[in-house]
Order: sequence, then C-alpha cells, then structure tokens
Amino acid sequence: MKVGIVRERREFERRVAASPDSVRRMASMGLEVVAESGAGEGACFTDAAFASAGALIAPDAGTVLADADIVLKVQRPLISEPNGGGELRYLKRGSVLIGLLQPLRHPAEIEAYANAGIFAFAIELLPRITRAQTMDALSSQANLAGYKAVIEAADEFGRALPMMMTAAGTIKAARVLVMGAGVAGLQAIATARRLGAIVSATDVRAAAKEQVESLGASFITIDEAAARTAETAQGYAREMDEDFQRRQREAITEILRRTDIVICTALIPGRKAPVLLTEPMIAALAPGSVVVDLSVEAGGNVEGSRLGEVAAAPNGVKIIGHANMPSRIPVDASQLYARNLLNFLTLLVDKDGRLKIDPGDEIIKATLLTENGAVVNPVLLPAAAADAQASAA
Ligand code: NAD
Repeated sequence: MKVGIVRERREFERRVAASPDSVRRMASMGLEVVAESGAGEGACFTDAAFASAGALIAPDAGTVLADADIVLKVQRPLISEPNGGGELRYLKRGSVLIGLLQPLRHPAEIEAYANAGIFAFAIELLPRITRAQTMDALSSQANLAGYKAVIEAADEFGRALPMMMTAAGTIKAARVLVMGAGVAGLQAIATARRLGAIVSATDVRAAAKEQVESLGASFITIDEAAARTAETAQGYAREMDEDFQRRQREAITEILRRTDIVICTALIPGRKAPVLLTEPMIAALAPGSVVVDLSVEAGGNVEGSRLGEVAAAPNGVKIIGHANMPSRIPVDASQLYARNLLNFLTLLVDKDGRLKIDPGDEIIKATLLTENGAVVNPVLLPAAAADAQASAA
C-alpha cells in the first residue's frame, strides 16, 4: 500500500505531514512511502533525508496523489483552484485522506470529499481519550503554539523578561498574563516562567486553577460558581453569558494596568472565539506592551488583532495576530504531527500492511467524515439523521 506525502500549498504553512523518522516507521509497517520532491523543505527535511529513510521521491504532487492509497496532509487539500491547481481531483476513489480538515469551519468542502469517493479523516475530531493521546495533533500543535507565542511576544517587547541586577541598575521582571489555560496557555505559562517573568493566568474552567498554580503562576478566579459548570463533558469550555463576560472584563482591566504582555488562547470548539480584550481594555495597557492573539483564526480574542499582522493600537501597544503559529516552529511541529499521524495509521493498517477501517472503533467513528460517497460523521449530519444513525448502530 502506498502512502503519499505532498508539499503543503496553503498560505502560512511550512509544516509537512511526515518526517524522516515517521517514514522509517511506515516502511517498517510494510508501507511504501512516496514523497513529492521538496515536500519537507519548509521543515528542513531534505529529499535525501526522506529517501534515506526509505521514501521514493516523485517529481510532482499529481503523481504522488494519483498513486496513493493513503494521503497524509497537514492542511485541507486545495479543491477548486484557478488554472487546475487543485489537489483533491487527483485522489483515487477509495483512497484515504488524513489531515487537519477543519470540517466545522469548512463544511461545504466535506461534500467534495464525499463526491470524490474517498475516506476523509479529520484528525482534530479525535476523542480526548487515553488511547488517542499519542494521536492528538491538536495538543501537540497547541503546545508548540503556546511556546512560540511567548517567544514572539518577547521579540516584539522592548524590554527583558527576567529581573536583572546589573552595575548600571536593576531591570524589573516583566509581568505576563495568560488568558485561557488549556494546552497552549499552560505551555505559554511554563515558557514565560522559564524566561523569568512574573506570570498570572485566568480561565473559565475550575480545573485550570490547580494546573496553573502547579506551574508557579497565580490564578485569577472570576466567578467560582460559574467555573464549576463552565466545563463540558468533553473537557472543553462553554460559552459564558453576558454578565460573566462583563465581570471578567472589569476584573481583567484592573490587572492590565500592571501587565506587560498578554497571551490570549481562549477557544470554544465549533464557535467563534470569545472576545476577551476590548479596545478600552487595551487602552489600559502601557505603551510598549505586547498582546498575542493565538485565536485570531477563530475570530480573535482581541479587538483590533489582524490575521497575519502585527497591528499597533493607538497607545502604541502591539497586537500580534500571526496566522498558524505552529507553522512558525515548523521542524518540531512537523516531527510531532508526523508522529501523531503515524500512531493514527496503526488503526487503519493491519499487520500485513493492508487497509482495515473498523467502523466500530470509537476513534474511527469520531474522525471519519466521508465514506462510499456519503457524509457519515454525526457532528456534520443534520440532527435527525445523526439520531437515526445512532439508533441503527
Ligand atoms: P481549547 O483550545 O478549546 O481552549 C483553550 C482554553 O481557553 C481552554 O482552557 C478554555 O477553558 C479556555 N477558555 C474558553 N473560553 C474562555 C473565556 N471566555 N475566558 C477564559 N478562558 C476561556 O482547549 P484545549 O487546550 O484543547 O484544552 C481543553 C481541556 O482539555 C484542557 O483541560 C486540557 O487539559 C484537556 N485535554 C485533555 C486531553 C486528554 O487526552 N485527556 C488532551 C488535550 C487536552
């Protein structure tokens, strides 16, 4: 069975879906890996490194995609590009596509996967169960995004983060506030602490308090009672009501007056990101302060953030809106993502290297979008069809 790897063609993307290490492991599973020449360039994986790990190198994406039984991608394939530049049209009917397909943000594209007759898997829909942890690409990428957010902020900040006592005088430690203490936020806290900053953090979920404090940061509780019901059964945050948001803004505005860097990471799955910093709140920050909006692609946590840009607020505060933060640390992000996909592949390939898709497996059920020309994922079906599917199962 052939596994195809192509160069990612979407804007702001430097990652690749395989690494020399994952190629070696796929070969040992009895899979034949074919990579487009230059596929790993953005992540510093050369054709020679892929070839010595056991991959064949093909001259172009069309050749790789048309021949592959399984296609590994980071981003959604291009579908209807001008000048015939699409990728999906090359895929064989019955082949498997695995990637961060963003089905909730781009539902129209799911129909195209169904029409192409492929098995499309959206890796971000993995259930967060213990067995799936090694496949959890959302976590591996969010972790690196949290790290890189602090590094980018430190780079834009005109001061140092740690306290320094020098002969010429003492530099005060910077104060960092992290809003949203999930995977990205916790890594941002750890990174800012390692750089010597004084760190505080807030989240709507009560469980976040202990995790924040265990990293040596202080936790800002907005409303203890609301926090107890803010977490869904899947471990994600609920959307908070207007009253909570107003109180959160009031409490945070006070803290902003003595904050230098704010890292915003708050997300609510399937919805627009909550606005955490309004323009009047940004006005409370001192000139030279830096805000990072890691949620900018989901609508943004920060008023005035602009996708792919470092914006300047009227008072001189910089608002970093870089798109695709994990792609700004492409080597490690690709290594970890490739390992996530490799672990996922072990569910789809039997010991003789043949395709086996077990529709009863909880992980397959959650991630499979299309099969035999139809959309099959309960998250994407209208409620009535999902109910019928659940009772038939
Ligand atoms: P996420 O990316 O969906 O959201 C980021 C953070 O923003 C979350 O902590 C969320 O509570 C917070 N948030 C949402 N609205 C907010 C608001 N208005 N104000 C402040 N904060 C707000 O979350 P995530 O990083 O994917 O993590 C969610 C949870 O899942 C965490 O508890 C994480 O530890 C857990 N998790 C579990 C597993 C597992 O395998 N069991 C794997 C990964 C993550």
